[in-house]
Amino acid sequence: MANPFDAAQFSLETNIPADQGPFLSRYTTFQLGGRCPAVILCSSAQELKTAIGYLGAHQMDHFLVLGEGSNVLISDDGLDQVVIRYFSDTAHYERDGEDIVAEASSRIDHLAFSCAKEGLAGLEFASGIPGSLAGAVVGNAGAFGQEICSCVDAVEVIDCLGRARTIRLEECGFSYRHSRFQDGKEIITRVRLRLKEDHSQDLLKERQRILRERREKHPNYHRLPCAGSFFKNIEPSLAGQRRQAAGLLLDQIGAKQMSVGGAAVFEKHANMIVKRSPGCTARDVHLLSRQMQEAVQQKFGISLSPEVRLIGRF
Ligand SMILES: Cc1cc2nc3c(=O)[nH]c(=O)nc-3n(C[C@H](O)[C@H](O)[C@H](O)COP(=O)(O)OP(=O)(O)OC[C@H]3O[C@@H](n4cnc5c(N)ncnc54)[C@H](O)[C@@H]3O)c2cc1C
Repeated sequence: MANPFDAAQFSLETNIPADQGPFLSRYTTFQLGGRCPAVILCSSAQELKTAIGYLGAHQMDHFLVLGEGSNVLISDDGLDQVVIRYFSDTAHYERDGEDIVAEASSRIDHLAFSCAKEGLAGLEFASGIPGSLAGAVVGNAGAFGQEICSCVDAVEVIDCLGRARTIRLEECGFSYRHSRFQDGKEIITRVRLRLKEDHSQDLLKERQRILRERREKHPNYHRLPCAGSFFKNIEPSLAGQRRQAAGLLLDQIGAKQMSVGGAAVFEKHANMIVKRSPGCTARDVHLLSRQMQEAVQQKFGISLSPEVRLIGRF
């Protein structure tokens, strides 16, 4: 079958039919997920726009955009839609005073490093968080009491018809691990971040401290595939109270000893599910997560909701 894409414009992994398409396990940090018809690799906003324009012109506007795939669990059956991977290992941005305007494909950790090196403060907390800047904005990623929304100024998006818009901070609908972009209708191309000048040496030192702490608590996802914390922390019922860590509740139900098939809970963090053996399936992870949810519901009467986005048939 002729390749329906103009591969000269962007990098096309393969094409239809779906049952011979690429495995999405290659594009998720869980290293799980069945096939899809095609994966289009884009690293710049221009490539992304070209790819979306092409898909739209060929009535293929039912596609999914991923970054590094570090916050998703894709089903073993795969997907019947084309996937665009908008991700770049390095950071691409322009400086505008204390602001930067970055390609949303940029690896957030590399962006955090570059900003610290340039003496721009605000993004140190994101040191070591996997994924793209876009993925971080979609899920309002956070760590150490800070969230990406605290330095977002505006988000440039396009829709599936290629129409561009700038969304200002107050329109982004940010809350704990949430933003308006989670409905998948707007594709994030670039983000303006508002940072503050500070001493580069201090920022790089803080970055090293954070990276050390993360190394002690989190699995190295290249060796132990996972998608970070599986469940969201629990919102307080009264104003002024703090969020309750899901990991603490999971610890108390003995989650660290739980496993299903090749999926197991990480021994140092009760809220992280890892792919323990190569035979592990997305179904194993899903079943294990259900067992964890049920045990917490039974013991504490609290319903945990996944932070990891489940995509496909479960
Ligand atoms: C070891 C480990 C540690 C982690 N630690 C943290 C942490 O400390 N804090 C934290 O918040 N998260 C953490 N995570 C989760 C994850 O890294 C973040 O949520 C990250 O921001 C996701 O980015 P991504 O590019 O991988 O998004 P993906 O997983 O690729 O996508 C997530 C969602 O965003 C959508 N999306 C992606 N790109 C776009 C785009 N351009 N436009 C519109 N929608 C898009 C996708 O469709 C999907 O719905 C961790 C994960 C791992 C594996």
